[in-house]
Amino acid sequence: MSIVIENLEYIYGEGTPFVKKALKNINLVIEKGSFLGLIGHTGSGKSTLIQHINGLLKPSAGRIAVNGECITDGSVKLKSIRQKVGLVFQYPEHQLFEETIYKDIAFGPINLGLSEEEISRRVASAMESVGLDFEKYREKSPFDLSGGQKRRVAIAGVLAMEPEVLILDEPTAGLDPRGRDEILEKIVELRTLKPDITIVLVSHSMEDIAELVDRIILMNDGEIKLDGTPREVFRNVEQVESYGLAVPQITYFMRALKAKYSGIDDEIYTIAEA
Ligand code: ADP
Repeated sequence: MSIVIENLEYIYGEGTPFVKKALKNINLVIEKGSFLGLIGHTGSGKSTLIQHINGLLKPSAGRIAVNGECITDGSVKLKSIRQKVGLVFQYPEHQLFEETIYKDIAFGPINLGLSEEEISRRVASAMESVGLDFEKYREKSPFDLSGGQKRRVAIAGVLAMEPEVLILDEPTAGLDPRGRDEILEKIVELRTLKPDITIVLVSHSMEDIAELVDRIILMNDGEIKLDGTPREVFRNVEQVESYGLAVPQITYFMRALKAKYSGIDDEIYTIAEA
């Protein structure tokens, strides 16, 4: 068991005229090593939920445990939660600031007080995970890279913390098709390199979600409305559409990717063909 969320509620602006219950009685168990997709239209509560998983927000009610440790009762330090649970924000490349790629990715591990040797190992491994050659890129400025490459540097910065849980908030937003495919390919590869890592992918792209994840959670108005495999969730066409979301078309790139890494899974393609 990796993440256990029990009776989670969150209220913004409590005691003000702008009070908003953004999460209502969320109960969710996310297994270790699973790949979960979180979908729902704008305002459904996705960001509020993921910010609880890495300790950025404190629940108004309920609790969360990560790998058996309660992270919401104040017993675990925020720094330690953030190390366990890596959150890649939307447009993470806006937070790049160091003069070299190496320094940018090393920033988190340096703050952990690790040895130089360990820092270097982690930076090299994180760069490899996102498909950036260590020797070629380590001394380059992150600002000389393409949009997709910058985003990969930002993701590497989170991976260098070696989190047990990786949450990606809209990792393909604003990228061209090539940048998108490269990022998704690296995420899928990451699972083969680190089978124990739990990944939560928040996306507006029903295609990205349908084709990659093992399980989908659909949120609406602060509640979980659907929970199942992509096939189960998207089979429910009318219900998915009633929450303002489109049922996806499957692309050939994703078929090839899925076939390469996890064996051909014809299951979900029958949705598109049905
Ligand atoms: P999503 O990520 O699915 O777009 P959010 O978690 O950002 O949804 O928002 C859930 C609800 O909480 C929305 O109604 C949103 O307007 C409200 N909300 C989000 N952030 C704040 C905030 N800082 N103050 C007040 N209300 C907020």
